[in-house]
Amino acid sequence: MRVIVLGAGVVGVTTACYLAKKGFDVTVIDRADSVAAGASHGNGGQLSYSFTDALARPGMPGRLPGLMAGRDPAIRIRPPLNFALLRWGFDFLRQCSSKNFHDNTVSVLQLALQSSLLLQQLVSEFDIDFAFRAAGKLALLREPAEVHAAEKSVALKNRHGCNVRLLTISEATAVEPSLSAMRSGYVAAVYSRDDHVGDARMFARELAARLRMQYGVAFLLGHEATDLVRVGGRAAGVRLIDGEIAADAVVNCLGAWAPAFGGVPDNAIQPVRGYSVTLPPGKRVPAVSISDIEHRIVFSKLDEKLRIAGFADFVGFEEADDIYRIDRMLRLARIVAPDAADYAAVDRHEWGGFRPMTANSRPIVGATKIPGLYVNCGHGMLGWTLACASAFNIARQIS
Ligand SMILES: Cc1cc2nc3c(=O)[nH]c(=O)nc-3n(C[C@H](O)[C@H](O)[C@H](O)COP(=O)(O)OP(=O)(O)OC[C@H]3O[C@@H](n4cnc5c(N)ncnc54)[C@H](O)[C@@H]3O)c2cc1C
Repeated sequence: MRVIVLGAGVVGVTTACYLAKKGFDVTVIDRADSVAAGASHGNGGQLSYSFTDALARPGMPGRLPGLMAGRDPAIRIRPPLNFALLRWGFDFLRQCSSKNFHDNTVSVLQLALQSSLLLQQLVSEFDIDFAFRAAGKLALLREPAEVHAAEKSVALKNRHGCNVRLLTISEATAVEPSLSAMRSGYVAAVYSRDDHVGDARMFARELAARLRMQYGVAFLLGHEATDLVRVGGRAAGVRLIDGEIAADAVVNCLGAWAPAFGGVPDNAIQPVRGYSVTLPPGKRVPAVSISDIEHRIVFSKLDEKLRIAGFADFVGFEEADDIYRIDRMLRLARIVAPDAADYAAVDRHEWGGFRPMTANSRPIVGATKIPGLYVNCGHGMLGWTLACASAFNIARQIS
């Protein structure tokens, strides 16, 4: 049985992997000339198995006017207004109840814990190098209200099998000594020993190479998919700008662009732009991954470099302000952790990508109304963390 996987991001490549392992004849198609050219290219690198809290949460509706007025430097809301966005916004507000927040967080947590086991298996099977490390993670909290919410969240996560602790700042500094060289004023930290780091782009590229060699998976790069080919109401292949490819099933793994191809409604996913800068390390680079919750910035040591990533901009597919937003993020990062990176280095990689965000922060994984068309998309802030589990589950469903 021939299956086309649309999208060679980390979700598409892992989907191809589990399909190939089940014996399918797999072709991956991407319009970019290389694997992991979209959101998977320069993400934060954090395998955040314990930090799955949904974006839509109680208290968020009250913060929206301030966010829309630009009072939070880490979030910009200036999207092109359209019906799909209004529907998404309405769905998002509905997800902000305590019950929905709890259910969404737990559902993603379960997927994340499944992903953790699956990624370990892939690592031992394929022996691939992607700066993978059991780094642990510290989420730094500044406001008492954040600490109060964290107490509840820690209890919830531990009930579901995580190993997470709320620490004082001196306890956190014992875990990661370089915190003493970071900005003061934090009141506590959530420590998750079992969270990891790894470079999603390196992983996707290395895995794609193994899939080509070991499983005969074809990668058709530089080809844009324009439409689904249907025969008798069933998916029968994909139309490209320059031809057609036949298949018995098609899986849409197009990330933020998934609605444009079909299988998910227009209003199901919003692109949320974020940025990263990868720099040589500074004098006191943290070995443990750090998240500054207030500024929405993460610091991840990937091999000998430090990646600083964050911000969440609802600006449609706009990229024009990247240079200013990256500059803003770096200035904040420098205030938070002045010695963590060599901020003046010329040897740097600056990047922006679109997170495929659903209103409930859960990915969309499953069959569609069109027989033979499947979707695996909408992984939002956690696509790297969740990729293996959602890929495994969609492959099982197709087989
Ligand atoms: C700044 C930032 C930091 C992040 N940090 C983390 C983190 O620390 N941990 C974590 O778990 N997640 C993180 N994420 C989220 C994660 O990167 C995404 O959820 C994940 O990469 C989505 O993967 P994907 O394969 O679904 O999409 P993508 O990687 O975007 O892949 C989609 C692919 O589809 C292709 N495509 C689009 N349209 C077409 C078409 N018509 N025809 C052919 N090809 C097409 C694109 O070229 C692209 O390669 C972060 C994201 C950002 C932006």
